[in-house]
Amino acid sequence: MREESIQRIRALVRDVPDFPKPGIVFKDLSPLLADPEGLSLCTSLWQQSFASLELEGIVGIEARGFIFGAALAARCALPFYPVRKAGKLPGPTQQIRYALEYGEDTLEMRAGVLRPKQRLLIVDDVLATGGTCQATADLLRLQGAEPLAAAFVLELGFLEGAQRLGSLQIESLLRL
Ligand code: AMP
Repeated sequence: MREESIQRIRALVRDVPDFPKPGIVFKDLSPLLADPEGLSLCTSLWQQSFASLELEGIVGIEARGFIFGAALAARCALPFYPVRKAGKLPGPTQQIRYALEYGEDTLEMRAGVLRPKQRLLIVDDVLATGGTCQATADLLRLQGAEPLAAAFVLELGFLEGAQRLGSLQIESLLRL
């Protein structure tokens, strides 16, 4: 049953070569979202994987992490917290800067909304180098919360992003 669901999800991911830059194969998940069962299969598999973690909230990373994360939060009846690129949220916010392949970027979220030690799951569409998820986990820790796990639709295993994420339990539905 799980294997059937994974196969169905796999068939709904479109490879777009040389987007947004030459040499990158962009993983387009919009066919998955356009399939009535696709999103539901993803959230159902994640719910089963994390059932024993006693999660107290779900954090979605802009932008596609909002879609998957909010759907999972609704299924699990948990609060959803968006982590955004800098400058999009009204204050007060807490920020974190992190290194990209070339340069730096900043993520931020509302300050003061998390409880101390709140048990959190991070959700995004694709795990590549792991830098974005690592920065998100650090941002949550800065606020005293406890990121326990991270869920992705697809992991680009050859980039070894999971190894940067240390103690987080990683659940990628598809792995390349
Ligand atoms: P990283 O910080 O390198 O793990 O990159 C993760 C972020 O970049 C995620 O929010 C993804 O949406 C996006 N991303 C990275 N590589 C790809 C790819 N090949 N296809 C689609 N999205 C990607």
